[in-house]
Amino acid sequence: MNTYKDKFETSIKSTYFAKLKPEQQAFIETKAYAHKFSYQQLRLIIEMANDFEMWGEKNIIEVWQDHTHAKVILQRITKIYNEVKNRPKSYKDFNPSILRSEQKFSFTTKEKEGFGLGMCPVASEETRCCNLMTLDAVESCGFDCSYCTIQSFYKEEKITFDSGFKDKLKSLKLDPNRTYHIGTGQSSDSLMWGNKEGVLDALFNFARQNKNVILEFKTKSDNIKYFLENDVPKNIICTWSLNTSTIIENEEHLAASLEKRIRSARALADKGVIVGFHFHPIVQYDNYLQEYKEVYDELINTFKAKEVSLISMGTLTFIKPVINKLRQRNFNSKILQMPFDNAAGKASYPLEIKEEMFKHAYESFKAWHNKVYFYLCMEDHSLWKKCFGYEYATNADMERDMVSSYCKKTGIDYIYS
Ligand code: SF4
Repeated sequence: MNTYKDKFETSIKSTYFAKLKPEQQAFIETKAYAHKFSYQQLRLIIEMANDFEMWGEKNIIEVWQDHTHAKVILQRITKIYNEVKNRPKSYKDFNPSILRSEQKFSFTTKEKEGFGLGMCPVASEETRCCNLMTLDAVESCGFDCSYCTIQSFYKEEKITFDSGFKDKLKSLKLDPNRTYHIGTGQSSDSLMWGNKEGVLDALFNFARQNKNVILEFKTKSDNIKYFLENDVPKNIICTWSLNTSTIIENEEHLAASLEKRIRSARALADKGVIVGFHFHPIVQYDNYLQEYKEVYDELINTFKAKEVSLISMGTLTFIKPVINKLRQRNFNSKILQMPFDNAAGKASYPLEIKEEMFKHAYESFKAWHNKVYFYLCMEDHSLWKKCFGYEYATNADMERDMVSSYCKKTGIDYIYS
């Protein structure tokens, strides 16, 4: 006959129980025996305990309110959990406590099947999208941003280079009667590896051979050595993902500091390379609007509108595998401490919070309106009118407007198709 002990030990196997501190494990086990929690009740209690711990908030022992009925106990903890989860979080005194062992990676170079050119992996007709094409020059990333979806795509401790990449790129035949916008920063960081395996040589040659391509290098790195030492074709744009120092220091591990990213962009702009900036994800926390405003103002003071092709905005959007992967990690992160609403089948902020952050961002760049291309990345159609005062009827309209504006900035001819 199965005792509750057997049931308990079986139940905890598929939860984060092993990750919890010993005193929390002992506490939950004692309470489980006392109240004979069901598997579902146990799973939820352990999930909340793990989240409280990762958020650096009061732990399960501190928030526990006992009662004779298991159901009431769960209701009480869930109420506290939702209050803590949905209020603007504070990073004051927060310690991500990263384990270096968590960030080890190795390189592999092998002949990959097929060729990593395709539609942006998160593009959808349910959101207003720019139809970006993505080119996977390298698979997986050496930075460790807690919210990143790449961690659910690739086994993150292996960075893979395709030994056939150069030749495949050389033999790629594009339609000469259209202008392409191709990005290389979706499957890895575009610059952090420099010209390892000749990747940048191949991409620069590709840009030279295909003048009807706007090739975007997207990065959180300050590794601009290759760009400084080589002639940069004018149809190449280099864009930085920026965030406040609070988020960079607590959630974008191993990536370059804000100051280094802006300094690198300035150095390339001095060389005549058209740059751009992505604020994705904008993260809500206490006093966040003020901190983002300081970054927006710094850009306006550091760059001329004619040097900047784009400002994009987006926010945290999670698929279940990323949430699970994140909860398994051995570090602290407050990234999941946020109110969730359904966003085209994914979990993201409610629309009113998005409207607040995107409107604030767009209004902060008033000086660059109609001089720089602004867009919301992967966002609800309705937010465009509310935040920008205009909207597109189709993704194709957005793509045309975006790419023709990049062409104007880089001085290449836009082919209407
Ligand atoms: S808007 Fe963002 S998600 Fe959509 S296609 Fe463009 S880059 Fe991809």
